[in-house]
Amino acid sequence: MLVDYHTHHHRCGHATGQMAEYVETAVAAGLSEIGLSDHSPIYHLGPDPHVRPGTAMSQHEFAAYLREMDEVREQFAGRIQVRLGVESDYVLGWDEHYRELWRPHPLDYVIGSVHWLGEWNIFSPSLPEGRSPADIYQEYLHTTQAAARSGAYDILGHLDALKTRGHLAELGITPLLEETVRVIAESGVAIELNTSGWRKGLGEPYPSEAWLALCCHHGVPVTLGSDAHRPQDVGAGFAEAVALLKRVGYKSIVRFELRQQFEVPLGGI
Ligand SMILES: [Zn+2]
Ligand SMILES: [Zn+2]
Repeated sequence: MLVDYHTHHHRCGHATGQMAEYVETAVAAGLSEIGLSDHSPIYHLGPDPHVRPGTAMSQHEFAAYLREMDEVREQFAGRIQVRLGVESDYVLGWDEHYRELWRPHPLDYVIGSVHWLGEWNIFSPSLPEGRSPADIYQEYLHTTQAAARSGAYDILGHLDALKTRGHLAELGITPLLEETVRVIAESGVAIELNTSGWRKGLGEPYPSEAWLALCCHHGVPVTLGSDAHRPQDVGAGFAEAVALLKRVGYKSIVRFELRQQFEVPLGGI
């Protein structure tokens, strides 16, 4: 029983394919559940409802996104369980905004991802003016702690994504990282093992084995996501991911239904 809870489609402006094509791949791969979780609209960069067209859908598009997810779920009923989700930004200080934003919608789960430190995107090739890798690392982990505490999310996305462009100063386990994992554990929010790091040539998923082992040690629940931006990447790297989860000590993954978390034993997988 495997789930892929992190997928995108054409709406965000930098992925290809229709939602139904992602679901078809999940059926073919034998997954038990596929979660749709496109990038949520951006709110923190000013009043423009479509401030970064290549990054996320327009604020005006969200209702159509919800409707289409519902239709796709109906279309595939009896073949695969389709879960309705979204990958939301978390921006420091915007807790109330994101909590209230997602509360009214009948979503199965919300992924909270730190893509932004203020107006700086963590996938930018260079650091913001005047900032060092060490202080960016600290701000990133403090922001991750705040995301966990916010209560706005069910899953924290790609925990160490700051490494993507080489901005992660500390690759090992630091006291601040241990504190962050304790905060995540206390909050009850899950993390994801996101296999896209392997496809990006990083040689490891998000998070790294060391971070994942630390999360397991502290009892943080985990789920699985491919972060597919093309239909053919649904479920990519899952055999390696399951082996990695077992190696660091995980005995189960979690799945979600209307924002409630359920445990799925890894034993039979
Ligand atoms: Zn994306
Ligand atoms: Zn993301």
